[in-house]
Amino acid sequence: MITTGDESIFIQQVEAVQQRAQQLYQCAGEASDGQPQILVESLEQLRIALEELYVAEEELRHQNEQLMAARQAAEAERQRYQELFEFAPDGYLVSDIHGTIREANRAAALLLNIAQKHLVGKPLASFVPDDYRRGFRSMLNQLHVVNRVQEWEMRLCGREDTPFDAALTVETVRDKEGNAIALRWLLRDITARKRAEEQMHQIQLQNLELIEADRLKTQFIATISHELRTPMNSILGFSELLLRRFHHQYEPQLVTMIERIFNNGKHLLKIIEEILDFSKLKGDHLQLKLEVFDLAKLVTSIVEELHPLAEQKNLKLQVHLAASSIPVVNDSQRLRQVLINLLSNAIKFTDTGSVRLEVWELPQERVAIAIIDTGIGIDSADQTLIFQEFRQVNQSSTRRHGGTGLGLSIANALVQLMQGTISMESQIGKGSTFRVELPRRVSLPTTGILT
Ligand code: ADP
Repeated sequence: MITTGDESIFIQQVEAVQQRAQQLYQCAGEASDGQPQILVESLEQLRIALEELYVAEEELRHQNEQLMAARQAAEAERQRYQELFEFAPDGYLVSDIHGTIREANRAAALLLNIAQKHLVGKPLASFVPDDYRRGFRSMLNQLHVVNRVQEWEMRLCGREDTPFDAALTVETVRDKEGNAIALRWLLRDITARKRAEEQMHQIQLQNLELIEADRLKTQFIATISHELRTPMNSILGFSELLLRRFHHQYEPQLVTMIERIFNNGKHLLKIIEEILDFSKLKGDHLQLKLEVFDLAKLVTSIVEELHPLAEQKNLKLQVHLAASSIPVVNDSQRLRQVLINLLSNAIKFTDTGSVRLEVWELPQERVAIAIIDTGIGIDSADQTLIFQEFRQVNQSSTRRHGGTGLGLSIANALVQLMQGTISMESQIGKGSTFRVELPRRVSLPTTGILT
């Protein structure tokens, strides 16, 4: 391509040749006065000048070819950009700085529901609904000072169409002096995005409402079970008193009735306490009371306590302790509750065979407790569900056995609170093994959370 520098060199060369030609004319005139030597020199110079001119012409031709090629490339590039502009999936517009449309692509025409050729010359403001036009114009007036506005959310309205949510990205085009001369617009229909945002917002609101409802429910459960516990305790206390002190004065039928009151009361109290624990764990209010105690002793006493239940069902109840004394730091009442739940479930869901409890020590100052039964087992699909609150599997058998479906979720939350883990393996018809792993020394607990 010829640059201004190249052009001036060429002009200088032409001027030099002109000067030489001039001189030649003069020389030729003088030569006629009988000086043939001068004529020869002048012709020689003319030859040199013509050669230089020829080189300059070659150079010019070459530069012209380069210029043509560059022009063609620029045209192809322009064409490519024009096509990109034309077929872009988003609406593109070019307007003057007052927002009057100068160019528009197909997508813009489609978005504004108007033929492409009719868009040119129209103010973009005429596609902004009345309520938004003022805001649009005031922003438009500021565009010559800013270089770019990104994702400006606006309402647009196509010709004879309903308004829609749009995001406008505007770029100011400037001349060499920096004066704003045009605006490039990218228009995007964001109706779907807005709808999704609105739905998300609604879901978040509903979520908050659900969390609040859940909190109220937990609070209600806590209050009710608290209120029920007091009269229940007095029913139990008085029926126990009647049984202990006066049973010899009553008819056997009456004693049986009082025994029933006592046993059912105990059962009800257990349910109330489970619900209360559940609401405490849910409400993050449960704190462990740590102490040093002997795990071996605790396990032995639990097994003794539940022995009658196993006996009633003719089940063998076995214990295997790795050591006669296993000192631990934990909440003995809460650990007792976990183990009673697992052991009574094992007895409850085993009709023949045995229930075995094993305790052994693990590396890194941990202990493991396993409760192994030869009972009905749990289907693999249900194995992860049973740790969730209120979950009972195999409803027909569990209804026969009773229960709230809270025991395992409470046991799981308590074991987590003790920085331990609870896991299970089970096979339908063969039995289940529940395994609890705990640190020997539980550190200062945080409050409990049921998830
Ligand atoms: P529930 O108080 O109703 O027994 P749990 O949370 O303790 O509630 O147990 C949930 C369910 O898990 C039970 O209803 C029962 O279906 C199943 N389950 C728990 N332990 C055993 C077990 N050892 N063998 C078979 N099924 C069990």
